[in-house]
Amino acid sequence: MRDFEFLEPASLAEASRMLADLGDSCRVFAGGTALMLGMRQRMLTPSHLVSLGRLDALRGIGFDARDGLRIGALTLHAEVARSPLVQAHYPMLASMAARVANPQVRNQGTIGGNLCYADPATDPPGCLMALGAQVVVSGSGGERVIPIEDFLVDYYVTALAPDEVVTQIRLPAPGAGADGRYARFLRTAAEHRPLASVALAVRREGAFCVEARLAVGASTPVPARLRRAEALLAGKTVTSELAAEAAAIVAMDINAVSDMRGSDTYRREMVRVVARRTIAGLFGVAPE
Ligand SMILES: Cc1cc2nc3c(=O)[nH]c(=O)nc-3n(C[C@H](O)[C@H](O)[C@H](O)COP(=O)(O)OP(=O)(O)OC[C@H]3O[C@@H](n4cnc5c(N)ncnc54)[C@H](O)[C@@H]3O)c2cc1C
Repeated sequence: MRDFEFLEPASLAEASRMLADLGDSCRVFAGGTALMLGMRQRMLTPSHLVSLGRLDALRGIGFDARDGLRIGALTLHAEVARSPLVQAHYPMLASMAARVANPQVRNQGTIGGNLCYADPATDPPGCLMALGAQVVVSGSGGERVIPIEDFLVDYYVTALAPDEVVTQIRLPAPGAGADGRYARFLRTAAEHRPLASVALAVRREGAFCVEARLAVGASTPVPARLRRAEALLAGKTVTSELAAEAAAIVAMDINAVSDMRGSDTYRREMVRVVARRTIAGLFGVAPE
């Protein structure tokens, strides 16, 4: 690994200044789980790392019944998973975070680092998208609040400007009848990373779907909402047949990738199966 300098700014403003001054030769350092792998493999060769470790304002989780959830960018996956606030108000998020990677990564990797790396084969982006997340970023030009759909641009590409850091992730307050489910499909039991993921956040009255937000991740370059399937489910009582019909639309509408972990045809089929089971399971009907 190439030698580097480890910088520890004491404020967000100082961090942004360092990022602006150093440009391409530096990287933000949060938990280091993705960064260190990239550096060890020499895919990344920064001369400076700008650590966020001293910025305590970027830690912690808060909830307000009107404004919803705020998760500091430096919050660990394990902290999201065991937060009583997340468990009480966004159980699908807690359940997702508890399944990220393995205990080592969950106790070192941050939710902000996950979003900023923008690796498609990960869990939080799709789940946060279904929950209507916004990403708060801060740089020398001030603060911006970006819907997650606009924050995630492409494979390993985000809307962050070079001098910006993610400070917080916000989720709207859950509405009446809010419920949700996150499902991930692994190609083999030994793999940590999902091959496909389906996140479904709904408002429902029993088996009647008032509103649905469905996002597919890991099988696509960036997670995407599946609006046709959402529209099909909204305003209907969900049956096994409707779940199967919506899942078929989901599989048809995704921009499936083909790579060494699976062809686009295989991924579409897995997404269809996972989506059908997720929809049926959430509404308590047997999958067809
Ligand atoms: C073995 C292994 C298995 C994994 N399996 C899974 C899995 O099953 N599911 C899953 O979802 N993820 C998985 N991951 C990915 C993991 O979630 C991420 O590596 C982790 O969340 C990254 O967070 P970090 O704090 O370590 O980021 P770092 O490694 O510190 O940084 C990652 C990138 O984001 C940038 N960055 C970090 N924080 C910020 C910020 N606040 N603002 C601006 N830029 C920032 C860094 O500059 C760097 O480019 C796995 C990782 C490993 C190593």
